[in-house]
Amino acid sequence: MRVLTSRAELARWRGQGVTGELGSIGSDLGLVPTMGALHAGHLSLVRRSVQENGRTLATLFVNPAQFEDAGDLERYPRDLDRDAELLAGAGCDALFAPPAEAIYPPGYQTWVDVGEVAQPLEGASRPGHFRGVATVVLKLLVLAAPRRAYFGEKDAQQLAVVRRLAQDLELPIEVVGCPTVREADGLAMSSRNARLTPAHRQSAAALYQALRAAEGAWLAGERDAERLRQVMRQRVEHEEGAEVDYVSVADPATLRELGRLEDGSPPLLSLAVRFGLVRLIDNLTLPAPDPGAPETAPC
Ligand code: AMP
Repeated sequence: MRVLTSRAELARWRGQGVTGELGSIGSDLGLVPTMGALHAGHLSLVRRSVQENGRTLATLFVNPAQFEDAGDLERYPRDLDRDAELLAGAGCDALFAPPAEAIYPPGYQTWVDVGEVAQPLEGASRPGHFRGVATVVLKLLVLAAPRRAYFGEKDAQQLAVVRRLAQDLELPIEVVGCPTVREADGLAMSSRNARLTPAHRQSAAALYQALRAAEGAWLAGERDAERLRQVMRQRVEHEEGAEVDYVSVADPATLRELGRLEDGSPPLLSLAVRFGLVRLIDNLTLPAPDPGAPETAPC
């Protein structure tokens, strides 16, 4: 696997083996953007891309523009050699790991602002976060010109923001969402999990349990979104060290909070919880309701 650190190296690698015009139409390339500290969740995206494309390019860029907290950026784990080894093992063809100045050279001043879908939830808790995400994703798409780009459902709002970006700017790429990979106790894999204390690590399984509890209520016929929010909050808030940032029951495409739920399009449940300095997020899209279930939840 090639490790590329400059835009010129990326352009040379990108051009190799391409016949005809360089560009995303007819491209055989799958792109997997990451911030490194890779785990099985990231590698599932890489494997999917390897299956679906002639070549796969992963990127490793800890994007300063999407961290509103300098301490969080500083603490973000970094180990390029280990990440390169894992990517090679998953069949990745190249890794683009540029320094910050290659993406934001002196004088840089252009930013991409996605609208309503980027405002609530992570957007509200982390002002400027999605502006940084949308900007770097667009830059990586321009530099790599892939046919498909792979993102995890783990970051459901990020996926919705990237889909909106691709649609609104008519980018000729397919945005592929990939299922969340979890630990044995249900905790969504995340580079941040390693920073949890042992006690918080145990408590952190409550995020997924909260989502499943709300899913259970939905399957039993509960259609009041506020009640589902309560079910999630109650499951998490008594855990040792847990501070709930938000619980949400929203439309999966617009991220608008819902009131009375219809049986039509299944809502997205999501939550963010802090354990000390570590902030975790998780989500679950509710399954289509079972036609045999009662219409209202039993008391
Ligand atoms: P990150 O390095 O955290 O920016 O993540 C890079 C990509 O991997 C994003 O598209 C994430 O949504 C995705 N990802 C992170 N964790 C997981 C997971 N547990 N399962 C599936 N995809 C994930």
